[in-house]
Amino acid sequence: MNIVSRITDLQLKHPFKIARRATDAYRQVVSVEIDRGIGETAPARFYGETVETVRLALETITPELTNNLDAIHNVMAAAETVLGGNYAAKSAIDMALHDRLGKKLGVPLYQLWGLDPQNTPCTSFTIGLDEPEIMAEKTRQAEAYTILKVKLGTPRDIEIIETLRSVTDKPIYVDANTAWTPKEAVRKIRELAKHGVELIEQPTKPSDLAGLRFVRENSELPIIADESVKRASDIPALVGCVDGINIKLVKCGGLLEAHRMIHVARTHGLLIMIGCMIESSLGITAAAHLTPLVDYADLDGNLLITNDPYTGVTLENGKLILPERPGIGVTTQET
Ligand code: MG
Repeated sequence: MNIVSRITDLQLKHPFKIARRATDAYRQVVSVEIDRGIGETAPARFYGETVETVRLALETITPELTNNLDAIHNVMAAAETVLGGNYAAKSAIDMALHDRLGKKLGVPLYQLWGLDPQNTPCTSFTIGLDEPEIMAEKTRQAEAYTILKVKLGTPRDIEIIETLRSVTDKPIYVDANTAWTPKEAVRKIRELAKHGVELIEQPTKPSDLAGLRFVRENSELPIIADESVKRASDIPALVGCVDGINIKLVKCGGLLEAHRMIHVARTHGLLIMIGCMIESSLGITAAAHLTPLVDYADLDGNLLITNDPYTGVTLENGKLILPERPGIGVTTQET
């Protein structure tokens, strides 16, 4: 079986900035095709992956893909052996295999998994870091979205939220992207709570679980781990340190592992968010099929780009509406 892959530059509507990284004008994704199935991945340098590592991984796995492709568990177990830490590449393969199987059986992914498409949450829409006034302007432009996720992690964090609160009363999630010290986090979260912020994502360093625990024990808002949790095996150590986890397909290696993470997290009583990278509607829609199982969705990567090659999941008053077509259910955008 052959894997056809292609690199696409996704152009960003606005230069996008978070706490640890400079501004970007575009992001690269790799799309793959296996038989009739399509998948996509957005490798992140933060996790040591690039479009080049993904391409190399795909070349490496191709000769191994002689199994029954319907048996996705088997194929991904083989991929695990051959590709090890190449989670972004594994995610693209896993996604294409799920799309292929859904198409073959004539059912959308949510139905393949026995989920009710009515149970999707609203997605948040991300406001990247910038001058407070520019963030306020972006907030005004985000009228169509019912929940905002605001990137923080600067000396002006409280000023930013005060400025945003002067233009919106929508629910706000805050993502500090590891930027705060534990004490700084506790101090800032106390202030943020007064401004109607609903949850805090990854306040402190990923490996400092004691720091996360300190923040959680001294904060009234739910603390959601993102950079601290990649896969199901990371979850038990986080119990007591956070209130929930953010699952991303690119981080964990695909839909099978995302399911595993959901079950492990629920077993431990944790809240679950499904997040994303800057991705097209292909990757976003695949992740959206899982959202009937979770508490929060942060699936806006496709809304931040100008050249989305696909149409898939849509929004109705902020709520994710899943396509009913077989597989992931995306169609190619008319150009
Ligand atoms: Mg995050």
